[in-house]
Amino acid sequence: MTRASGRRLRSVPARRTEDQELTGILNEMPDLEVLCRTGWHRWALDEVMPGESWPDVVRAWPQRRGVFRIEEPCVKCGLAWRITDTLAGGTMDPFAVSRIVYDREWVTIPQGYKRGKRRIRQELYRRRGADDTAAQLERAAARTAADEEAAAPAAPVLKFSGAS
Ligand SMILES: [Zn+2]
Repeated sequence: MTRASGRRLRSVPARRTEDQELTGILNEMPDLEVLCRTGWHRWALDEVMPGESWPDVVRAWPQRRGVFRIEEPCVKCGLAWRITDTLAGGTMDPFAVSRIVYDREWVTIPQGYKRGKRRIRQELYRRRGADDTAAQLERAAARTAADEEAAAPAAPVLKFSGAS
């Protein structure tokens, strides 16, 4: 390729595109992080039903004035923790602002990269592999067909017509 001056341009190594750089970052990412990044973290306390005990992974430190600092891991990835303070007296504050701390294994994606859930999902699907996806789809479709057949009503169901 020549310029108007006729001087040949020196060949320079192609600059890595932003997506190539992101791919490099994603390659370092643990599977569990990819999984959580496609959706949301599942904080331990968000999984507790009324009447259930808090799981042992939840930790609490007494602060001043009866405030407790609660630390709970994400039960899905185990790579992130939510830190929340209770109100004075240990009451849970539904509007409390939490902060999240991450494991050293957690790979951060710098600002400016396309790090939306769709891009991460693309990475998840790549890791699962097309062959595996095809096999899983076949199994799911067979299950669905079997369920539909089992659920098919033997006789038409008479519905209330509304007339009285
Ligand atoms: Zn998580």
